[in-house]
Amino acid sequence: MIKTGQKILLIISAVAIIVLLLIFRTGKAPLVRADSANVVVMNTIAKIIAVAPDEQTAQNAIEAAIKKIKHLENLFNRYDPNSQLSLVNRQADKEPVKIDKELFVILQRSIYYSKLTDGAFDITVGPLVDLWKKCAEANSMPTDEPLAQVKKRIGYDKILLDANQFTVRFAAEAMSLDLGAIAKGFVADRAIEEMKKAGALGGLVDLGGQIGCFGLTEKNGKWVIGVQNPSKLEAGQTILKLALSDSAAATSGDYRRHYKIGNKQFSHIFNPATEKSADTLSSVTIITSSGTAADALATAVSVMGAERGIELIEKLPNTEAIIIKSGNEEMLETSKAERFILR
Ligand code: AMP
Ligand code: MG
Repeated sequence: MIKTGQKILLIISAVAIIVLLLIFRTGKAPLVRADSANVVVMNTIAKIIAVAPDEQTAQNAIEAAIKKIKHLENLFNRYDPNSQLSLVNRQADKEPVKIDKELFVILQRSIYYSKLTDGAFDITVGPLVDLWKKCAEANSMPTDEPLAQVKKRIGYDKILLDANQFTVRFAAEAMSLDLGAIAKGFVADRAIEEMKKAGALGGLVDLGGQIGCFGLTEKNGKWVIGVQNPSKLEAGQTILKLALSDSAAATSGDYRRHYKIGNKQFSHIFNPATEKSADTLSSVTIITSSGTAADALATAVSVMGAERGIELIEKLPNTEAIIIKSGNEEMLETSKAERFILR
């Protein structure tokens, strides 16, 4: 006869074994990976990958990410007359404009990176971008007079934010904020937050040159991404591969978008101080934990040049740079960039 005490012990043991078996099984259950189709957003082709315990969760995570990306694009796109940023660009020199929190936060982050980079990164470059675009269309170099006019409208210190009222106001007339150098990084960060909330255990957001990833792949590995070879763009060749987890990588470069006047090519990135295009580096990749930081800093280093750029990035914790110079295509790296490079 089994005593009551022994019975209880047996039942407890049986339950414990079942629970352990269940945990063991769940732990071993293969993860599912879902890939989005190519999505055209933010003037680029986006791709999203979600890793989750099941197909439905992975699909939900992709949907949540795309929804967030589209929502933020509608706020941040200065080329869309209906965006909130367009409203700001039209109104903020006349009166304070109340804006959504997400737009307010990206403006705050932008000013932060302007200060950090001594003005190399500056979202008030809108009028300068427009002037160069117009000149490229007319195939003539910008002259002193319009450049002097534009200068009055540039400067991050002319963006006045009120954190109590969530308003923005301009200190000069006819300013135009351009979030092109930070929006993709910021949006990738927010998309990843949505994917995590939807239950994804890992994932990757690729916004055309702006990559953010979290967790691991379905095979428990790091995310491997390619950095394009700036001189072999048509062939789609990569110059090196990076292995990342819970990191962002942003690449800025004159090879992506540029202007042509005569037979000379000009980068779409401008030095706000000189009003000239930044042409010394053909590719700058920044790797760090935040996409916002990676995006803003990749643009800033393109303006600052190799020496000053590397000096700044070396000072920032957990932030690395890989630079390819224009012309001789020499490659330079910060001291710990190597650990991300697959050899
Ligand atoms: P990215 O590809 O991230 O380097 O962003 C480049 C885009 O940002 C350009 O196409 C411009 O719209 C804008 N831009 C150009 N120069 C600057 C700058 N110095 N600071 C901030 N944004 C800039
Ligand atoms: Mg950028």
